[in-house]
Amino acid sequence: MTQSTGKTNLLGLTQEELEQFFEQIGEKRFRAGQIMKWIHHFGVDDFDAMTNIGKALREKLKASAEIRGPEVVSEDISSDGTRKWVVRVASGSCVETVYIPQGSRGTLCVSSQAGCALDCSFCSTGKQGFNSDLTAAEIIGQVWIANKSFGTIPAKIDRAITNVVMMGMGEPLLNFDNVVAAMKIMMDDLGYGISKRKVTLSTSGVVPMIDKLAEVIDVSLALSLHAPNDELRNKLVPINKKYPLEMLLAACKRYISRLGEKRVLTIEYTLLKDVNDTPQHADEMIALLKDVPCKINLIPFNPFPHSGYERPSNNAIRRFQDLLHKAGHNVTVRTTRGEDIDAACGQLVGQVMDRTRRSERYIAVRQLNSETDAASSAANRT
Ligand code: SAH
Ligand code: SF4
Repeated sequence: MTQSTGKTNLLGLTQEELEQFFEQIGEKRFRAGQIMKWIHHFGVDDFDAMTNIGKALREKLKASAEIRGPEVVSEDISSDGTRKWVVRVASGSCVETVYIPQGSRGTLCVSSQAGCALDCSFCSTGKQGFNSDLTAAEIIGQVWIANKSFGTIPAKIDRAITNVVMMGMGEPLLNFDNVVAAMKIMMDDLGYGISKRKVTLSTSGVVPMIDKLAEVIDVSLALSLHAPNDELRNKLVPINKKYPLEMLLAACKRYISRLGEKRVLTIEYTLLKDVNDTPQHADEMIALLKDVPCKINLIPFNPFPHSGYERPSNNAIRRFQDLLHKAGHNVTVRTTRGEDIDAACGQLVGQVMDRTRRSERYIAVRQLNSETDAASSAANRT
């Protein structure tokens, strides 16, 4: 487990928070901009490398602050260019970050929690249960680590990371403050300069937090729908029992309308064979989304052991897509990327794969998590 040093970790501070930090230590606010560039543009974690900061201030910073990302446990690069990092967070659990290149676009899929409490029936993260919230430093730290692997920002003409999606492990709206702080740094020019349209938060539907989000930030929103009626959604996405579809879609519409400028909601729909993939489901979905400005992303189910679900045939996927398309929807099917490094949606830490090499790695990661769980519960008992 990572030990706390008692120092302020500057990695997770927004520009405003860094300015306050400098004021509190009796320094000028403009230092925040200088430090942010060193941290996020140049990937520096050593105050001595900051050549435009005088020695006295560097020493002062060394005594009270640090720049510390999560520990990288492994980095894998797939034959299709997809990259995956397993990082260990302060609670001792491991989470994953995935980079998916596609033409001129490079999308980073970032985790917000270790595990997830919401227990969606087809999600391997949900099966793990909730372990811990990530700190803002651990969330932006995933972008920091990925960005460093491509070199510093000013050295590049095209940035490697053009889009960020909060679609890794965890429910981002249940770790609200830390996720919002990290997304502010993603969008800040002194951070990663990613446009608000290209930072997307995906939620399974924590309704009150959708309204709260609209008050503080204007990132793009994706809704994990997965079922066109409450009866089925209650089974697949249990939080639906608390916040049913009518309430949920109304909140999403409010969020989108506040953004203006022709912004739309992204609907994610994981296709599960014979469960939510029939023409009747497509028809219900068309009726449900009649007044919702949206684009639809179909995600063929990525199987994991003992899930009890199957991926539909390619024909069934195409049939579902065609029906939505004929009704006037913009529909894409998410292709599975990075399969050789287990980087697909829902294939994140915790599963045991059948190929030996993968099995060993996944069992190892799983053990890491359960050992730490055992260690921390032992610590809690003492
Ligand atoms: N908790 C958030 C974000 C993380 S999950 C949410 O649920 O939206 C990111 C996406 O992957 C969600 O749409 C989720 O439903 C989907 N997903 C989870 N497990 C999957 C699996 N095994 N196959 C395909 N998609 C999956
Ligand atoms: Fe949590 Fe999202 Fe998985 Fe549901 S799909 S269990 S909300 S991570």
